[in-house]
Amino acid sequence: MAKCELIEKCIFFNDQMPNMPSTAAVYKKIYCEQDFDNCARYMVVKAIGRGNVPNDLFPNQKERAESIIKGSGN
Ligand code: SF4
Repeated sequence: MAKCELIEKCIFFNDQMPNMPSTAAVYKKIYCEQDFDNCARYMVVKAIGRGNVPNDLFPNQKERAESIIKGSGN
């Protein structure tokens, strides 16, 4: 599977998030380089735009992403 198209500007992938987890490298392999469709950050960007992604949203927080998307009213 292709890599996530958002890699270049993604603060998670570029280690610019506060409190980067020790599991970050694993998430990058799982999400950024394979299963980006299921990345929480990717989901919010695609559904309601980059400006609506919380700085501290991690790729594995899919449920949180879903509630952010629902809460947007879209
Ligand atoms: S998969 Fe998610 S965390 Fe990884 S680069 Fe794409 S948006 Fe960022």
